[in-house]
Amino acid sequence: MSFDTYRDVWVFIECFQGQPKSVGLELLGQGRKLADGLKQRLCAVVIGKETEAAVKESAAYGADRIYVVKGDEYENYSADAYGHVFLKLCETYKPNTILVGATVNGRDLGSKIAVSLHTGLTADCTALSVDEETQNVIWERPAFGGNLYAQILCADTRPQMGTCRPGAFKKPERRENNRPEIIEEDIHTPESQIRTRVLEFIKACEENDMRLDEAEVIVSGGRGMKSKENFAVLRELADVLGGTVGCSRAAVDAGWMPQSRQVGQTGSTVTPKIYFACAISGAVQHVAGMSGSGTIVAINKDETAPIFEVADYGIVGDVFEIVPALVKELKARKQ
Ligand code: FAD
Repeated sequence: MSFDTYRDVWVFIECFQGQPKSVGLELLGQGRKLADGLKQRLCAVVIGKETEAAVKESAAYGADRIYVVKGDEYENYSADAYGHVFLKLCETYKPNTILVGATVNGRDLGSKIAVSLHTGLTADCTALSVDEETQNVIWERPAFGGNLYAQILCADTRPQMGTCRPGAFKKPERRENNRPEIIEEDIHTPESQIRTRVLEFIKACEENDMRLDEAEVIVSGGRGMKSKENFAVLRELADVLGGTVGCSRAAVDAGWMPQSRQVGQTGSTVTPKIYFACAISGAVQHVAGMSGSGTIVAINKDETAPIFEVADYGIVGDVFEIVPALVKELKARKQ
């Protein structure tokens, strides 16, 4: 089957309240690699009520062309409205490859598009390349709990699609002088076709709005924190470093933290620049969710705790002495 009519690599630039999420910009770096390999254009797809910031950032991160669809009905994500727009764009421009961030909304949109177009989608890819001979993208992802890596091809249909988790790739270098072609499409979705409504945003917990999978610094606490109130000291450290607070499952089970802040096999997989594991022993299920962090700092009073095996910096001592001392020192340095 010839795929000649399917051209270009598309990246969905997901936005929240008018601002592009980091993952879309990260994927522009991977998209560039694929577009060069396929000798095609790199295109960003921006849908929203306010699109200026996302268009500007997509240009700076290297898009050759940006498809922009604006409308009041796109203020908040909905599978019906965004799916409608994306499918219309696909019908008109026939992309070869589509990359979507593996966020809650991205996973929803990606699967909707793949099913509607009867094509394949590889979830949670960790490496992308092009098979020069067949021009298939090689979608690589961990399988069987990370014990082996599978290479998946979408050889029979187009577009070929994949999702990648936030933080799995770094953003490419900014190119302020890049001037992409902007294509504005007037596509509207009738209200009657949108079956979901966002009524309000409710914070899942006391933590600031920063998502775990998007935070550059995470300060996590475990059973050794001993109470809900004691997490205040970790919040202070997170605040001074511009990060957010996570936890182990033991802290969730004890009712000190909501499940949405749990890191690990049955919680979030995180890849911050710095991860603090405070009074966390380092069970395999916890480590599975944080071992991809840039730098790991472990604070534990038990020098034999397994967390020290994955830590770049290990501090043996009482978390209630060390964390306040760190906060004091960091605050002093900021002044
Ligand atoms: P503990 O193992 O009890 O460790 C507490 C640590 O705190 C100890 O090392 C202790 O030395 C230290 N400590 C105590 N007091 C202090 C102090 N004052 N100062 C410094 N250190 C101190 N766990 C997760 O975290 N995430 C998951 O997603 C997850 N998924 C799971 C899925 C399955 C199927 C199963 C079976 C388990 C899962 N678990 C998960 C649970 C996991 O096995 C561990 O039970 C859990 O991670 C332990 O949490 P913890 O390290 O906070 O507690």
